[in-house]
Amino acid sequence: MNTLTKPLTLSLTTEALTTEALTPEALAPAAAGSAVSARIRARLEAAGERYFANDNISEFVHDGELDALQEEVAGELRKVLNALVIDVEHDHNSQDTARRVAKMFVQEVFRGRYVAPPPLTEFPNVSQLNELMTVGPIKVRSACSHHLCPIIGKVWVGVLPNGESNLIGLSKYARLVEWVMSRPQIQEEAVAQLADSLEESMNPNGLAIVMEADHFCMHWRGVKDDGSKMTNSIMRGAFLEDSSLRREFLSLLKSA
Ligand SMILES: [Zn+2]
Repeated sequence: MNTLTKPLTLSLTTEALTTEALTPEALAPAAAGSAVSARIRARLEAAGERYFANDNISEFVHDGELDALQEEVAGELRKVLNALVIDVEHDHNSQDTARRVAKMFVQEVFRGRYVAPPPLTEFPNVSQLNELMTVGPIKVRSACSHHLCPIIGKVWVGVLPNGESNLIGLSKYARLVEWVMSRPQIQEEAVAQLADSLEESMNPNGLAIVMEADHFCMHWRGVKDDGSKMTNSIMRGAFLEDSSLRREFLSLLKSA
C-alpha cells in the first residue's frame, strides 16, 4: 500500500519546517503578523518551493490554517466588491457574497491546492495484465488561471501496464482528477500534472490522456464563441512508440 506522497519531499519539508524559526522570513514582521497567507508564503519561500496557481501547497499549510485562510480571503473579496462600488452593507444579495466566494475558492473549486493528494490504494498486478485499459470519460471541473472562469469537460485515461505496474481502483482515477483539476489551471499543464501523478503511482509501460473541455472565458467574455472546445492529449512510453496502440486508445474514446 502506498500513497502519492513522495517520502523525499516529506523529509525535505520536515527539515524546512524545523529550521523555520531561524529563517529571516519567519522572523520578519510580515510573517509574524496576523495574515495566515503571509505565514504560509514565508514557509514556501524558505523551502524554495514554487507556489503557482496550479501547485499543491498542502505540505506548507498547518492544521487549522485553512479556515483562517478562508476568512482572510473573505476580507479581501469584500474589498474587491467595495472597489467595484457594490453596496455590500445594504444590498441583501451581496452582503454575504465575499464569505460565500471565499468558501467556494478555498474549500471547493481551488481545494486541490490546499489538501494532500487522495490516498490511492495500489494493487500489485497479480494477473500480469498487459492489455490496454481505458478509463473515462471522467468529469472535469476546473477554472482557468487567466480569468478564473470555469473549465468544464471530460478526460479519458489509457494505461498499458506491465507485470511490475501497480494498479489503482477505478474510483481513484476520478479522485485524482478532481484533486488536480480543482485549482486554477491551464489545460495543457493540468493534463501533464495528471500524467505525472499516474505514472508515479502506477509505473506503467505507457500512459495516454485526452482531455476535452469547454472554457467559459471563451463564452462569457472575449470572443464570446459558443462552439469552441479545447482538446489536448498527452502520450507517454508505449503510446508514443506504438501507433497502433495509440489508434486503439483513440478509437475507444470515439465509441465512449
Ligand atoms: Zn481564461
